[in-house]
Amino acid sequence: MPAARALAAIHARAAIRRAVREELAELRRRILDQDFASNLLDVAGFAPQRFFSAVLSRLERQNRHALQPAINATGIIIHTNLGRAPLADVALRALAEIGGGYSTLEFDFASGGRGSRYRAVEELLCEVTGAEAGLVANNNAAAVLLALTALAAPGEVVISRGELVEIGGSFRLPDIIMQSGARLVEVGTTNKTRLADYEDAATAETRVLLKVHQSNFHIVGFTEATPVAALSQLAKARGLTLFEDLGSGSLFDLRQIGLPGERTVTDSLRSGADLVTFSGDKLLGGPQAGLIVGRRDLIARLRRHPLLRALRIDKLSLAALEATLRLYRDGDALLKVPVIRMLAQTEAELNRRAGRLRRRLAMLPELDLRIERGTTYAGGGALPGVSLPTRLVSIGARDIGVESLAAKLRDGRPPVIGRIAQNRLLLDMRTLADHELAAVAAAFRGALT
Ligand SMILES: *Cc1c(COP(=O)(O)O)cnc(C)c1O
Repeated sequence: MPAARALAAIHARAAIRRAVREELAELRRRILDQDFASNLLDVAGFAPQRFFSAVLSRLERQNRHALQPAINATGIIIHTNLGRAPLADVALRALAEIGGGYSTLEFDFASGGRGSRYRAVEELLCEVTGAEAGLVANNNAAAVLLALTALAAPGEVVISRGELVEIGGSFRLPDIIMQSGARLVEVGTTNKTRLADYEDAATAETRVLLKVHQSNFHIVGFTEATPVAALSQLAKARGLTLFEDLGSGSLFDLRQIGLPGERTVTDSLRSGADLVTFSGDKLLGGPQAGLIVGRRDLIARLRRHPLLRALRIDKLSLAALEATLRLYRDGDALLKVPVIRMLAQTEAELNRRAGRLRRRLAMLPELDLRIERGTTYAGGGALPGVSLPTRLVSIGARDIGVESLAAKLRDGRPPVIGRIAQNRLLLDMRTLADHELAAVAAAFRGALT
């Protein structure tokens, strides 16, 4: 059949054969189910043209990479489902350069022998945070597991009941502590934990005092938490390790861009934390990684632990991380780290972008367009309770309906992801880049035809 021959010009024979078989099986199933609504059958019976066009769509679906770029118009900057932090240009260049060839990953120039993959990143981490030593694992969950396994197990870890958090559905502090082989000792209450609670709980079996950033929630009202400085005194007096999981962990003082001051990694070290871990792909704006900084003797114990090999960071992430950390060292984070840049955007900038997008969409008479004020959040377990003012292009769709328009946009190439409220599709300007506006307009044209 000519329609089948046309497919062979684009796709491999084996793939066509498989798709034809799958499409036939689907057709048989529909016949058995008496589902004649399918457009594969018409009054005359089998319709070859339509059949092969269905085969072609199936081939195109199958050829599409499962992992593909998407346009984030949700306004959530660190959106875990959409890949968290977009990387800086220099980090992308480093990925391509290191991934495309051989590299000095574990090569020591001076001796020509084996070197450490952690060396360059450790130096940068120390420079940027003021720490004595540093190390990197695959992600922050791995960093926490490694630290507890190496420093606490099989002894006790003391943690406040207000900090036994769950992040992203699968990272639950009590489970990670159990997995490490350490014993969880919870102290205080959900809203108040005092120094005396930690003092009373610490026994001869205690190894670690653990402090965890609440990350994705916020307790208001009558609350009390013990500051790191006070815990540090207690840890020193009793010979314990004070370990803080900062979660998102920022290297950049967000007060510079008018946001409430999160404690930075340096703040935590200065207040006396012995070890601090944080994510590479949250507020830092780098690749997935778990960064560990702190006392030299503790980092040395983590480095020697066999679990580090199993939780090792790969060379591509390492290349992107080194490039990102250099931006912080050189004072370029505000200009060049996309996450920080998105956080820093002014309402005037967002408003200008909204105007540009509205002009591009104005050719589509099916849409009812408005620019509105809104609020958004950093997301990804960063800056809980901090809302950011933003601008939205709010869209009503007369014939097709907002739900169905949103579904078509999600199914596009690239998918455009917004949010729906009160029967309007909202596109948030804080996470859209100017260079993406043309693609957004094209996606709407595609969805409406
Ligand atoms: C996000 C987060 C983690 C997990 O970090 P990943 O890099 O996603 O593994 C651990 N602890 C806290 C407090 C977090 O916010």
